[in-house]
Amino acid sequence: MRVTGLPPYDPQNIFARILRGEIPAKVVHDDAHALAFHDINPLAPLHVLVIPKGAYVSQADFSAQASDAEIAGFWRAVGQVARALGLEANGYRILANMGEDAGQEVPHFHVHIFGGRRLGRMVA
Ligand code: C5P
Repeated sequence: MRVTGLPPYDPQNIFARILRGEIPAKVVHDDAHALAFHDINPLAPLHVLVIPKGAYVSQADFSAQASDAEIAGFWRAVGQVARALGLEANGYRILANMGEDAGQEVPHFHVHIFGGRRLGRMVA
């Protein structure tokens, strides 16, 4: 089942290629449900992306179609990554762009983790 309004999953998207090991990434976490790696163009002293192992375009189809185990495993990994990077003491921000209005560039669901300095206020 496709989620209305979303393009079909493109197995050649850059994060799919990172998952297959075709493109290098600075991996910080790898488990059954999630892979995390440093963003190639960091916007904060620590800027890491966490992606599910499954083929989901965005938050919309991930939340609608992933199994409970995938969703739990993914979000547990987000917490583990932030903890492992030492971000829990001073805090961090998580963000996911979904679709055109949010400017999502890579059509494989991902969560950004930003930290390592006092972040600016959220801008919509
Ligand atoms: O949320 P959005 O889709 O805009 O974010 C995509 C992110 O993926 C960007 O922050 C970009 O720097 C990152 N990226 C990456 N490695 C690549 C290609 C893109 O970390 N090879």
